[in-house]
Amino acid sequence: MSAAEFSKEVRKTFRRRGILFVVSAASGTGKSTLCNSLRQSNDFIYSVSCTTRAPRPGETDGEDYHFLTRETFEAKVAAGEFIEHAQVHGNYYGTLKQTVLAALAAGTDVLLDIDAQGAESIRNNPDPEIAASLVDVFIMPPTSEELERRLRKRGTETEESILRRLANGREEMHRWSEFKYTILSGSMEEDLIKFRAIMRAERYLSRRLELNDSKSV
Ligand code: 5GP
Repeated sequence: MSAAEFSKEVRKTFRRRGILFVVSAASGTGKSTLCNSLRQSNDFIYSVSCTTRAPRPGETDGEDYHFLTRETFEAKVAAGEFIEHAQVHGNYYGTLKQTVLAALAAGTDVLLDIDAQGAESIRNNPDPEIAASLVDVFIMPPTSEELERRLRKRGTETEESILRRLANGREEMHRWSEFKYTILSGSMEEDLIKFRAIMRAERYLSRRLELNDSKSV
């Protein structure tokens, strides 16, 4: 290439639609800690779910969840405002459709922390754009004893809630193979490194990329 040609070369850039990262794990696996660590950086948006569960001490409305009454939640279901919703441990949880779709269309990655039912319902969403953007990750506790230990250590649940979450968690553990990726949970740092590796690789997938300047050499 001559010097003149070289100076005319346009730097290649790519654009892409956002990726929908879905992380699922049994309650107590350490998923909230993982999501909070991921949220320290701003290379994606975290989709704040709606729930009818009461806030735990230290939780902030609009940051951890949108805490809603059952009536308000049901009105949103009727208005078709959720991309998915489910009953989990006796309460309703749902992901707001508009936030997710607008971010993906703008090329912004989105992280959802939802249960295995929610992940399944997103996997079955008929919108091909959602299917193409979905990357679902299951965080597997090393043993059910470790799951119980982590859940009790958190100290935020009643005994009844702990037992219900454990029973649901043991059920959910069998669903790992439905997910595109599974991380066997270790320390928080290890889980973070593994999740970040998945994010990095998915962002380089050729099929997601579109060359911005077709005139470039
Ligand atoms: P927690 O009450 O411990 O915050 O959450 C209980 C479970 O509900 C967790 O497994 C969490 O991932 C799940 N969850 C949170 N938000 C949503 C949501 O919008 N949809 C679904 N399906 N599950 C959710």
